[in-house]
Amino acid sequence: MCEYRASSKSLVNRHVRAIHLREKPFSCPHDGCSYASVELKNLRVHINSVHLKRRDVACPHCSYRAANVSIMNGHIQRRHGGVGLLTGKGGHYIPGVGANKQKSATGHVQ
Ligand SMILES: [Zn+2]
Ligand SMILES: [Zn+2]
Ligand SMILES: [Zn+2]
Repeated sequence: MCEYRASSKSLVNRHVRAIHLREKPFSCPHDGCSYASVELKNLRVHINSVHLKRRDVACPHCSYRAANVSIMNGHIQRRHGGVGLLTGKGGHYIPGVGANKQKSATGHVQ
């Protein structure tokens, strides 16, 4: 079918369904919503942000809250100059060291 190879048959099946059949196995359970995704985590983000209006990620600089880290990092880029971008996964996000403040750790003499 194509050059795709994977270590397990289920991965191949997922690839075929997503890429070749364009199937999106994770569909939103909410009435009247047609959202569907290949990845369960994308569906979770959709439900949290669209239906539950959850804002789990708090800005380390101000009272702004976002539904996910990429939205929050966009906020931090725009509002706070990219200082303290969040990193991590599994729902435990920690503020990173600000790009502007980390220069001395790279070996450059100030
Ligand atoms: Zn393929
Ligand atoms: Zn939905
Ligand atoms: Zn902020």
